[in-house]
Amino acid sequence: MQNGNLKQGTHYAAYDSGTPLEWMDHTLEIQGLGEIRGKQFLKDILQFTGCEISVNSLPSGASMPVYHQHQENEEIYIFIQGQGQMQIDEEIIDVKEGSVIRIAPNGVRTWRNNGNQPLLYIIVQMRENSLRQYSIGDGIVLDKAVTWPN
Ligand code: ZN
Repeated sequence: MQNGNLKQGTHYAAYDSGTPLEWMDHTLEIQGLGEIRGKQFLKDILQFTGCEISVNSLPSGASMPVYHQHQENEEIYIFIQGQGQMQIDEEIIDVKEGSVIRIAPNGVRTWRNNGNQPLLYIIVQMRENSLRQYSIGDGIVLDKAVTWPN
């Protein structure tokens, strides 16, 4: 975990994960898969309470070595650069920057980078059917004029 660039206040935690092109420098240990490069989970760093989010970089030509499913969490994959393919229940879906894919827990998934630049993406994981209020429905607009110190 890299805590050097974490800032915390009473009601927030702010972290700099590096530029997306630096995401490949992140490493983590996954049981059974060994050391993984290009993936960083953010929940423990920023203390999320309702989801897990990871920032990811997969090199050109690389593919995930396994299929996986989830027990109770759905996943949202948000692609921000590159070109790749997701395979979900043996169906192939082309992805590129701007592609957003939601996969139900039982979906059997894997993916690869078949483009010529790093595939950069963010994965959000949260319990299926857990959301109660959302979008602007959960917001409260305050009766307070906006000011900035300078
Ligand atoms: Zn997953």
